[in-house]
Amino acid sequence: MGDREGAPSVGLAVRNITKVFGAAGAAAVHAVDDLSLDIHRNEFFTLLGPSGCGKTTLLRMIAGLEQPTSGAVLLDDEPLQGLPPFRRPVNTVFQSYALFPHMSVGENIAFGMQMRRLEAATVARKVEEVLALVRLEGLSDRRPSQLSGGQQQRVALARALANQPKVLLLDEPLSALDLKLRKQMRLELKRLQKATGIIFVFVTHDQDEALIMSDRLAVLSAGRILQVGTPEDIYKRPRSRFVADFIGDSNIILGQPKAPDRLALGEAAHLHLAEPLRPEHAGAAELPVAIRPESCRLVNGAALEDNANVFPARVREIEYLGADTCVVLDVAPLRAPITVRLRNVEAEDTVPREGDAVRVSLPAAALRVLDL
Ligand code: ADP
Ligand code: MG
Repeated sequence: MGDREGAPSVGLAVRNITKVFGAAGAAAVHAVDDLSLDIHRNEFFTLLGPSGCGKTTLLRMIAGLEQPTSGAVLLDDEPLQGLPPFRRPVNTVFQSYALFPHMSVGENIAFGMQMRRLEAATVARKVEEVLALVRLEGLSDRRPSQLSGGQQQRVALARALANQPKVLLLDEPLSALDLKLRKQMRLELKRLQKATGIIFVFVTHDQDEALIMSDRLAVLSAGRILQVGTPEDIYKRPRSRFVADFIGDSNIILGQPKAPDRLALGEAAHLHLAEPLRPEHAGAAELPVAIRPESCRLVNGAALEDNANVFPARVREIEYLGADTCVVLDVAPLRAPITVRLRNVEAEDTVPREGDAVRVSLPAAALRVLDL
């Protein structure tokens, strides 16, 4: 198949796709704005972004339910342009399960296959197979109204999988479920993706879901992709302030570039960096730097090397979170408070109290210089 060594092969490609709603001019909405994306074969890929950023519009263009204003969608290098939704090897699972209420579970699942005129015996076998896949054996004769929300969601999945699509689009499918069920379905969906090898394009505005489930994810804002990577990549190396804030919690520190490996914090203090500034950053008047609360440390007496970036601080607030405690600090040279997250099993005796004077370390290796 012409795969280059080691490089994962592209299954679904989105090329410079744009969707403008409404008349041109002031009223026009660029729901998706010149967006390109390569999704690999056998990948669990997530589109993560706040409400209104264009996730559903992008899915609908992949499904053929919406025509792009410009740009293309390719599956295994073949453009899908011009194919109506039912001719695309793509199925969608919506948040509202969209099951037929007057049909049994089995009939719901069989429907698409019957429309494609598959033999009755084949349809019956496939219904049993996908019911087993989503762990609903024996419920074929029930009506959707006789099932729990989680079970209805599984029927919607089974129905989509029965069509043996190459791509399954999932538009916030877990958002109607309660937290416990949602957590269970996360693992279930991941298992289903790996068991079938189908490309899953999963849409969510929930960062935890995106981190737990995805092989890779794209962070979207205002119709554009800000960053694509593995969950670890995105969490550890956010490139922009939006991504650093949207995924997990970040402390943002503003500093002025003074040397290739150093930012000034006001008149007297410095922040040492582990890596030299990139050329595009070196000339900036002020740069945002992110550090995760769990990467910050409270330190006592002992002198530490420069790269530890140790500053005197005062405890403004303590937030007890059960497994962790967050200590919010006013740090003398910084304009905004810094939150330090401590694991309670490790820190039981060392959690300070409000008003205490402490010292905080912002290790250079954990600092990420962000794009402006
Ligand atoms: P998301 O799924 O990320 O919440 P959507 O893709 O639904 O975002 O919407 C993206 C933007 O496009 C929003 O500003 C929304 O109001 C607008 N939009 C979506 N569908 C239509 C439509 N049919 N007509 C006009 N505007 C639309
Ligand atoms: Mg949506």
